[in-house]
Amino acid sequence: MYDFKCQRCGECCKRYYIISLPGEVSAQASLKGLEEGDFIARNMQLFLQLFPAEHGGSRINVSSSLVPRKFLDMISGHAGHIPEFFLALPMLAFRRREDGSCTFYDSGNSGCTIYSERPLECRLFPFVSDRKPDDYSKLYPFCHGLRHKDSNKTYADLSFVHFRQVADYFGMVKEKGFSGVWNSWPNGGVCLFTDKLLGPITADEFFGVIAPYK
Ligand code: SF4
Ligand code: SF4
Repeated sequence: MYDFKCQRCGECCKRYYIISLPGEVSAQASLKGLEEGDFIARNMQLFLQLFPAEHGGSRINVSSSLVPRKFLDMISGHAGHIPEFFLALPMLAFRRREDGSCTFYDSGNSGCTIYSERPLECRLFPFVSDRKPDDYSKLYPFCHGLRHKDSNKTYADLSFVHFRQVADYFGMVKEKGFSGVWNSWPNGGVCLFTDKLLGPITADEFFGVIAPYK
């Protein structure tokens, strides 16, 4: 159990790509009074994360032959070689402003403008790491909430709740395809290799990489 009291500083809203899953997006669109397709077009981007992988397995693994050359060259620069296969994680993430902040972050007064329907990842932060640190303040030194105590309350590490939800999502994508899970998607977004941003990706490039799970 951990001591924690959110200081509402907004630092966690300025640093990350925040993914939102199908049920969450429906609720966020309703909150904003928008059709889901409109909400996605206005606020979200395609988000494709690649990791080196073995061929086969139960995950969404794709051949490097499906990855655009421009990305392979950058991956080679980062990793020193081009893996033959990648674990591909195709998602939708909220757009970010030039300063890195989440499109729903209002620095003026209200903080998160979809607070009641913010994604689980945001609800659980900072307890969302798969690294299971003893001291979360080493992992997230910018989060001052970890240096405060909320009266007699303590917080459990609920990272597993988030990771289970995300694993279920990838299971659905593998079974139904990305276009079977989402009814609409943005025209473009970003591609990452591990945590390194490779650059913009078009919808055609995105679906080209995940062709077996389109
Ligand atoms: S979770 Fe931490 S970083 Fe995020 S708003 Fe609260 S205190 Fe700030
Ligand atoms: S959805 Fe809300 S809580 Fe989550 S990063 Fe964006 S502004 Fe912050």
